[in-house]
Amino acid sequence: MDDLRVQTIAPDEVDACAAAYAAAYAQPPWDEVYERGQVAGYLRSFMGRDGFCAWRLSVGGAVAGVALGIVVPCPDGAFLRLEDFCVAPKWQRRGLGGAFLAEIERLSAALGCDSVLLATQHDVPAHDFYLKQGFREVPTAYMYYMYKEENTMEYRDPNCAYCVHGEPLAQFGIYICDLNESKLYLFKEQSHPGRVIVASKRHVGDLTDLTDAERDGFFADVAHVSRALQAAFKPDKVNYGAYNDNGGHLHFHLVPKYRNEYEWGGVFAMNPGLVKRTDAEYDALIEQIKAAL
Ligand SMILES: [Zn+2]
Repeated sequence: MDDLRVQTIAPDEVDACAAAYAAAYAQPPWDEVYERGQVAGYLRSFMGRDGFCAWRLSVGGAVAGVALGIVVPCPDGAFLRLEDFCVAPKWQRRGLGGAFLAEIERLSAALGCDSVLLATQHDVPAHDFYLKQGFREVPTAYMYYMYKEENTMEYRDPNCAYCVHGEPLAQFGIYICDLNESKLYLFKEQSHPGRVIVASKRHVGDLTDLTDAERDGFFADVAHVSRALQAAFKPDKVNYGAYNDNGGHLHFHLVPKYRNEYEWGGVFAMNPGLVKRTDAEYDALIEQIKAAL
């Protein structure tokens, strides 16, 4: 097994890689009948694109496995989301998978990723394989994400605004700063001047998913921010709201309310969509909040 290599898939290797991929997924529990040309097209969609990775494992010059991934940028780093990882049946049970995965972690680190994240299901053989390779699991509503415990990166959901910031966050909020157990955001809809969001550092769906220490720290942050809002905006009351029906990322809305003004004495709307500010006005609000923190 000494002639074992993991390299980016070359154009003339696509057919051999497609064959290995199709053979791997033809096995139980997947039992997929993939047409070779279709797989080749899928592999090519990962090749030569910025942030996309297509690797193959070869042993003695023969393709033994395929791995496809996407580099997902984050506010404080990046991670590799492993989309596909397989070893062809004739090369299985020789310890190649572990070596292949270790090499992928090394290659992704070279691309600036601080972790590898993958999605899997419980009832497939691969799940136990990933556990053996040191991955731990984070249950979500639909599947299990897995990542390495020793990585400093907290688990992030690539589709979550609080995890990846960027465009998803820009839809409704602006990042202000990190707190001890949370992150603070200005809510762009400013019907209630000073409205912000405190989101947990980790991507968890509920308070009960935090450890006791994390939960205590999270609420200390909420109280700390509330005091800052009271100092900066002099509201008559700060309202707190956490709904999260779709099981996303735990966050609290902190909504300064003003006597006899909008929604006083009632429940604040999730997003009334009435008052937007200019970038300069958002900056000024953020400075006001930061100065009071
Ligand atoms: Zn998240």
